[in-house]
Amino acid sequence: MLVYINGEIVPEKEAVVSVFDHGFLYGDGIYETMVAYEGVIFKLNEHLRRLYRSASLIGLTIPLKVDRLESALYETLSANVLKNAYVRLTVSRGPGPIGLNPDLCPQPTIAIMAQESKEYPELLYEKGVHLIISETKRNLKEAIDPRIKSMNFLNNILAKIEAIKRDAYEAIMLNAQDQLTEGTISNIFFVKDNVLCTPSVACGLLDGITRGTVIDLAIKENIQVKEGEFLKEDIYAANEVFITNTSLEVMPVSKVDEKTYPVGEITKRLHQAYKQEIKKSLSSRKKVP
Ligand code: PMP
Repeated sequence: MLVYINGEIVPEKEAVVSVFDHGFLYGDGIYETMVAYEGVIFKLNEHLRRLYRSASLIGLTIPLKVDRLESALYETLSANVLKNAYVRLTVSRGPGPIGLNPDLCPQPTIAIMAQESKEYPELLYEKGVHLIISETKRNLKEAIDPRIKSMNFLNNILAKIEAIKRDAYEAIMLNAQDQLTEGTISNIFFVKDNVLCTPSVACGLLDGITRGTVIDLAIKENIQVKEGEFLKEDIYAANEVFITNTSLEVMPVSKVDEKTYPVGEITKRLHQAYKQEIKKSLSSRKKVP
């Protein structure tokens, strides 16, 4: 694999970061994960907008203009001869002396990795995945706002450990008020009486790009959408449940804790609409040659 690091594309063994990088020392940095389909990075503008928003929320100035970053992403795909790929873009605070002060780090580290995307087993989409509601609460938004897509992922990792222990695919975290927020790497949706429900961003969660796309598609499909405050009892009472993220797209859920669900019609309809949206994007200008 060839990796972009601070303006150069080098073999992965040479793509190394200093142990003094504050990303390594303190988890001080931000990232985005994107997917390229047939050489086009889906929802690239939205991902880049969120990256710059995360940077601004942690007081980090990304030393590249957005069009330069966009070219670097496509150059990394080209260098690896990849058309269908995951692309991970990380911007850390950069190397500096030990100590929390971000001003000690004059040069942020920018890294881009791209690897061939694997197809998720079709069976997962046919049968759905199991979720748990974790004991680990989501970070308080007044402490570390989950809208910051940060390299500091311990909150999510602790919830993921619970999911692994309970043989579940994903863990849904509650906030301090016991309201549903999101999964460790996904947003949660459920359907109750034909209304598509999802926790509002004010509950303390990342406004996933896929979440936003699915909400827009549901509105276009004349499905009523409710973003609000929900408890775990609301999800137990739901007719359909699914999770979303950039790589899973729309993944049906067959079980939350002990409650089971069929793979529902609205879930299938929205996944089809999402796939159509990907197809439409393929005619866009920027592509891996
Ligand atoms: N929530 C969290 C905590 C995540 O890490 C992700 C994955 N980026 C998501 C939600 C889904 O976001 P997206 O649809 O932008 O991939």
